[in-house]
Amino acid sequence: MNRRALVTFTLGAALAVAPAASAEQLGKLGGALKRANQLRDIQMNDAEEAQLGAEVSQRIRARYGVVQNQAVHRYVTLVGTALAQVSSRPGIAWKFIVLDTDAVNAFAAPGGFVHITKGALANLKTESELAGVLGHEIIHVSEKHTIRAIQKGKAVQMGADETVAGNSALLGKLADKAYEIVDSGFGRGDELESDEKGIVLANTVGYAPTGMNGFLNMLMERNKATDGARSGLFASHPETKERVDKMTKQIASAKLGSTATVGERYAATITFKPVPVTEIATVEAGSSGAAGGTAKPAEEPKKKGIGGLAASLRPGGGEKKSAQVTGSGAARGAGKESAAKGGSNPAVVAVSVSAADVAAFKKAGGLK
Ligand SMILES: [Zn+2]
Repeated sequence: MNRRALVTFTLGAALAVAPAASAEQLGKLGGALKRANQLRDIQMNDAEEAQLGAEVSQRIRARYGVVQNQAVHRYVTLVGTALAQVSSRPGIAWKFIVLDTDAVNAFAAPGGFVHITKGALANLKTESELAGVLGHEIIHVSEKHTIRAIQKGKAVQMGADETVAGNSALLGKLADKAYEIVDSGFGRGDELESDEKGIVLANTVGYAPTGMNGFLNMLMERNKATDGARSGLFASHPETKERVDKMTKQIASAKLGSTATVGERYAATITFKPVPVTEIATVEAGSSGAAGGTAKPAEEPKKKGIGGLAASLRPGGGEKKSAQVTGSGAARGAGKESAAKGGSNPAVVAVSVSAADVAAFKKAGGLK
């Protein structure tokens, strides 16, 4: 049923730790584009991918704002880093960012930028559920789902002779398209791959691999409040149930036997209060979600769409968007989450954790 063929992406360079963004990197990204007559031919090394991801993250932060809380960022970074260390790309510069909105959502941008909302944290109950969500998003990055989507022609068509040497407008266009892909959700095949490999990451670190299922079940319950009452469209979430069933089978057949849920540490650290989906404040279509943000994208992001992780809850996942979003489902349920208001401060909360910090954190949580 997956309409997407699986494409293996060849890394353009050795797995180097991505340095901080610089003008030089911008030049490098330009080089990647110059090599490609069409974006579907694009090849990116890690530094180029990190530059693109930084641009996409800036757009996500402008839309939702960032929770200005060091302790929360440190905690999410410790959980995320423990998972990223056992991923296929432990060496890239992973960043974990908590977005300032009551909506339940998460977004993965290329190059290691993982975003999760305050609303998601408020509705999760244990660290293993957080690990389930972060593991899923980490796989979107490590398997380069955004880059693959660009290669499949979801991005701007370049003129055959167009290059980016000194052409920052083209870089912006590419970042806008990558943002659109991240915001509108990945295809079903990518979601299933992230589910399957994400819970393996969590299990490897020692977390109960049922965390992602706990999260999906919570979301189905949460959205009943709107979807179930008004329409049968989202009432049963057959595709979400299918994902839960697939992971349940995988946990049994692959004998994913880790058991740590770490609920007490989670409750002690994350004290946000959940806001029911019917009560979250939303932005009007066409108005700005980035109050006062200077990093606002050139093109206003869609407010009515079902974005990010919430998109994967739509029947058919990201690939049946046109039929579902333009239908009656757009303004409710997961769609309402996507239209949620965000905070006004897009500044990154800088957190630095060492390998020793992660080791101590895992030990204290009874992890591996
Ligand atoms: Zn996903």
